[in-house]
Amino acid sequence: MKKRSNRLFLWGGTALTMDSKGTVLENALIEIENEQIISIKSQKKASKPEGAKAIDCRGCLVCPGFVNGHTHTGMTLLRGIADDLPLQRWLTEVIFPLEKRWGKPDFVYLGTLLACAEMIRSGTTFFNDMYYFEEFAAKAVDESGMRAICGQTIIDISGVEKASDIVEKFDAFLEAVSGYSRVIPAIAPHSIYGVSDKVWPEVISFASRHKIPIHIHLAEEQGEVDDCLKRYKKTPTEMFDRYGLWDYQPVIAAHAVVLTENDIQILGKHKVGIAHNPESNLKLGTKIAPVVELRKAGANVCLGTDSVASNNNLDLLQEADTAAKLQIFRKGIGELTAYDAVRMLTIEGAAAFGLADKTGSLEVGKWADVIAVSVEAPHAQPLYNPYSHLVYSAGGADVKHSVVGGKVLMENRILKTLDLDSILKEAKRWGKKIFDSID
Ligand SMILES: [Zn+2]
Repeated sequence: MKKRSNRLFLWGGTALTMDSKGTVLENALIEIENEQIISIKSQKKASKPEGAKAIDCRGCLVCPGFVNGHTHTGMTLLRGIADDLPLQRWLTEVIFPLEKRWGKPDFVYLGTLLACAEMIRSGTTFFNDMYYFEEFAAKAVDESGMRAICGQTIIDISGVEKASDIVEKFDAFLEAVSGYSRVIPAIAPHSIYGVSDKVWPEVISFASRHKIPIHIHLAEEQGEVDDCLKRYKKTPTEMFDRYGLWDYQPVIAAHAVVLTENDIQILGKHKVGIAHNPESNLKLGTKIAPVVELRKAGANVCLGTDSVASNNNLDLLQEADTAAKLQIFRKGIGELTAYDAVRMLTIEGAAAFGLADKTGSLEVGKWADVIAVSVEAPHAQPLYNPYSHLVYSAGGADVKHSVVGGKVLMENRILKTLDLDSILKEAKRWGKKIFDSID
């Protein structure tokens, strides 16, 4: 029997297609069939098409859904639990002990549901995750209808994890998430300091065998780089070059804050995907990543939020605002424009994961991952430049509709796939339980 097609129209908005020419379409009519965009054009006058479901986008900027290049959704129940601590003290004194006590499957599953609700409501359609029990994060992603790369973490600080155990553990993980059509599994060795020498070649060969992404933390702070130099006489970027990690694709390196000129050239030459997390970097007192230099060198730089424990939200429009202003502060006006920042949220975000032919712009044949951002609020008028508007005026709360792969996840700010009330009720219950456990 022929599969019944599922059609959907988005009509009446101003479409920022983010294609290679930066095409903007007024009164855009976007036709979606099943997973894909099958046509996109301007109407002379906005009018609702008949005969299929149609979402009214009048008064909105219609954009490709945003890409969150680095987060840990399983940590969402730790939002705001500790501020005003530098990275290593924050990790070792607060986060690691709490994760040891609470970081189990139900904590990860609910945390990821809460994160998905927040991300859908702020325009993210695709995110790159790294945590433990990622099969439970993947279950939440599947229920939400979002897309995600779910990276199971390896931490091997004491060198106790045997390479053969890792392969066995990951075989089981790949099997557990294989039924989730919008989840891409990944292997996520934590960092140069979190994973021992002998494990890196195993990680790379496992990823090559299964053709899955590798997701790491890289050069987040000075101490990490100093320790690495002391141990190996090489920077973390140089060590990964020696392991052959940068020859693999896709690799996503989160942070890339403390880099030498040589590091920047290595990352650029290999077109490495870099997730820049400016708010987490600022909040944990690290430094500002050399985003302008990395982009010029050829790296694929996208934006990430990191976890809400160090941000403390998942709003990518705030992240873009911060990222653009920080590079103005570092390098001067015009080196990272609002248009560049929107590209980092969309098409360059997709490129960082090797998915630019499938998502990241509104073009025929691509996945129908589309959001509509309202420009009707007082802070949104008047409107002259839509890119400037998104980065410097709008916020996640302005996102009105969200569609992923042709499925409506939010319409008029009402979530269609998740039960927000019950997620919030559970999150409050967990918050009290965790709070009461702290001495
Ligand atoms: Zn991180």
